[in-house]
Amino acid sequence: MIVLCADRLFTPQQEIQNPLLFVEDGLISAVSSRAEQEIPHHATVLDLTKDVAGAILAPGFVDIHMHGGAGLDVMRASTAELPHLNKFLTTHGVTGYFPTTVAAPLDQTCAALERLADAVAVATISNNGNAVQARPLGIHLEGPFLSHKRRGVHPPEYLVAPTLAIFERLWQAARGQVRMMTIAPELPGALEVIAEAARRKVCVSIGHSNAELDAARAGVRAGARHATHTFNAMRPLDHRDPGILAEVLTDGQLTADIIADGIHVAPEVVQLFLKAKGIERSVLITDATAAAGMPDGAYQLGPIQVEVKDGRCTMDGKLAGSVLTMDRAVRNVMQCAGWSLQDAVRAATLNPARATGLPQHGKLVPGAEANLVVLSPNGEVRKTIVRGRSC
Ligand SMILES: [Zn+2]
Repeated sequence: MIVLCADRLFTPQQEIQNPLLFVEDGLISAVSSRAEQEIPHHATVLDLTKDVAGAILAPGFVDIHMHGGAGLDVMRASTAELPHLNKFLTTHGVTGYFPTTVAAPLDQTCAALERLADAVAVATISNNGNAVQARPLGIHLEGPFLSHKRRGVHPPEYLVAPTLAIFERLWQAARGQVRMMTIAPELPGALEVIAEAARRKVCVSIGHSNAELDAARAGVRAGARHATHTFNAMRPLDHRDPGILAEVLTDGQLTADIIADGIHVAPEVVQLFLKAKGIERSVLITDATAAAGMPDGAYQLGPIQVEVKDGRCTMDGKLAGSVLTMDRAVRNVMQCAGWSLQDAVRAATLNPARATGLPQHGKLVPGAEANLVVLSPNGEVRKTIVRGRSC
């Protein structure tokens, strides 16, 4: 048994002062305060208060929209290369993520899905040779069922109309490891595919969409329950033609994510988003590319070549993903919206885990995996712990 001691702990809904967190076989067995429970003699004690002033224990971050980092693109990286990316993610507090595809030739997408499905399967059953690293928890299909009008940098020649046959082909290639799918609900055939994906427990997310309000609502009625990088690659909000954004911002059941890097969405609009979705339904994502954690230069995003300069990742002047990391997104939300660290952490942990159906992630409660991040009071990552093992 391992016992972790810290100054504070975010479950994240609750805060515990002077917490003790008990880990057995990689799972959390108990969470309490020092006043409530004794440390057993046989336990291995990891006292985080010794190394980190004001040490805060929080769930490891869960990034449900991530294309790469540390020079590696998830659609192109080999199985041998992925651990390098996973390791990079832990340095930013991420313990679980969804490798996310972009629109590409169908054969290439399927080949990438096969590789990623292997990585997800291996991460589920083993500790990767006991290395402490973030794990792919499922795959996010961003495309190919996207709107031409709102495609962003997804190549138009690889966008396809949604059909059950193509969805089935992608599903088979991924051996059922698709956890999330971004789709434009207004496309002909979309509602049928949304309903089928939802039936298979995929978190269907509306995005890359030019939907008018009725089409967006039809998508939600068919089974969509989330929205992808709100405001980006979406029909803009107009006060007389509210469109998809009105549905995303006003539907109290829908969760939604946002890229809070200060580039994709103005800080004031991030603030508006957070007010609309609240602390329960706001989700932070990075949409990071291979360029995250790397110097300025040229990088691949699936089949797309992107250019990074001064923190902006673009293709022909259009934004093409980000170089954001989850820990920075958390701090940005504190700065631009005045959210507490506890609430900002929730949007990077419990909320994405709930939105996508990951009951063992994003929270520090008995039975959950012991995936944690040790934060300073201003949200800097000091240590990351995966299944009770620290790096
Ligand atoms: Zn993306």
